[in-house]
Amino acid sequence: MTTKEKDAEYIVHTYARFPVVLVSGKGSILVDEDGKEYIDMGSGIGVNIFGAADEEWEKAVKAQLSTLQHASNLFYTVPCAELAEKLCKKTGLKKVFFTNSGAEANECAIKAARKWACENKGAEYFNIVTLVNSFHGRTLATLAATGQDAFHKDFLPLTPGFLYAPAGDAAAVEKLVAENKCAAIMFEAVQGEGGVVALGGEFVNALDEIAKKHDLLLIADEVQCGNGRSGKYFAYMNYGVKPDIVTTAKGLGGGLPIGATLFNERTQDVLTAGTHGSTFGGNPVAAAGAVSIVDRLTDEFMDEVAAKSDYVVKMLTGAKGITAVTGMGLMLGVSVTRGADAVLADLRDEGVLVLKAKDKIRLLPPLNIGWKELEKAVEIILKVCAK
Ligand SMILES: *Cc1c(COP(=O)(O)O)cnc(C)c1O
Repeated sequence: MTTKEKDAEYIVHTYARFPVVLVSGKGSILVDEDGKEYIDMGSGIGVNIFGAADEEWEKAVKAQLSTLQHASNLFYTVPCAELAEKLCKKTGLKKVFFTNSGAEANECAIKAARKWACENKGAEYFNIVTLVNSFHGRTLATLAATGQDAFHKDFLPLTPGFLYAPAGDAAAVEKLVAENKCAAIMFEAVQGEGGVVALGGEFVNALDEIAKKHDLLLIADEVQCGNGRSGKYFAYMNYGVKPDIVTTAKGLGGGLPIGATLFNERTQDVLTAGTHGSTFGGNPVAAAGAVSIVDRLTDEFMDEVAAKSDYVVKMLTGAKGITAVTGMGLMLGVSVTRGADAVLADLRDEGVLVLKAKDKIRLLPPLNIGWKELEKAVEIILKVCAK
């Protein structure tokens, strides 16, 4: 049986996979089972932020792998503590809880927000306001947090305690928190799965003001838009707000599963011994890799991300067959007149792998993609969209 046949026979059909079997890669070039090369404009949904088989990351991972692969959180481990220190110093946040995925990082944030509200406002203040078209994960609580009915269908009843307001509508958020007993407001500074939409400074600052006025926590889901992708370490930093809880995952591990929930001075002591945990969370191999990633997300590096973003936006905006370019940094959504599926298929034929978000093309290249590869990818995207 071929890989595709085995997959069809033995793997649950939850993914509408692209018809490509990827076997290897180097930097921003991926190779399929037939030896065909592609420019990677998706980085495994924003995970391989330094591309495939990045040497520095690989060295850090391999060194830890042959030292100690796992210890459990019953013991201290070196990479985990080192990564927490780096994340706090980089962001000004105070403490970290490590998970294995974005959904788990958000679960942790939701639990912490409820416990904080329980202790500071009363047990009935459990509601969390999220946004329409948000995406926060696939577990029952994060699915409930996700403001898209399409994901909820057939899985009811979901975890109660989530209310949805349209993104951009501060009055709707204000109304929800005034009429319901709430613990927090949760947002993605750039909505990813919802169509690569940057929320904008005005609205994010309005969320911050509403949270302050009603004594709520502000939770930033930086699972996709974090870790340098927006041109700042976290995307909310583009808007000047200071969330009480920040979640991240995807790019943090550079390719290995790790997530983190970060807390500020207001929330750092909410979760106490025995109130939360994870067997694999903060695994030393994943954490060692993440240390090598976080170290390299310097201001100079992120300026380069912003420069690459400006280039792509300038080249694609107003081009034939392209009606809009949205997003921020190297997280961009492209609306195309031909329809995203046709464009994706043609791009694959031409050797460029991109993603989809709603009816848009989604670009999430490795952050260190070379100018040569980026220019080539843009050239092919322009050609395919104009067809
Ligand atoms: C991908 C994503 C998640 C879920 O992360 P998993 O690692 O798939 O659990 C949560 N929030 C946002 C914004 C995401 O993009």
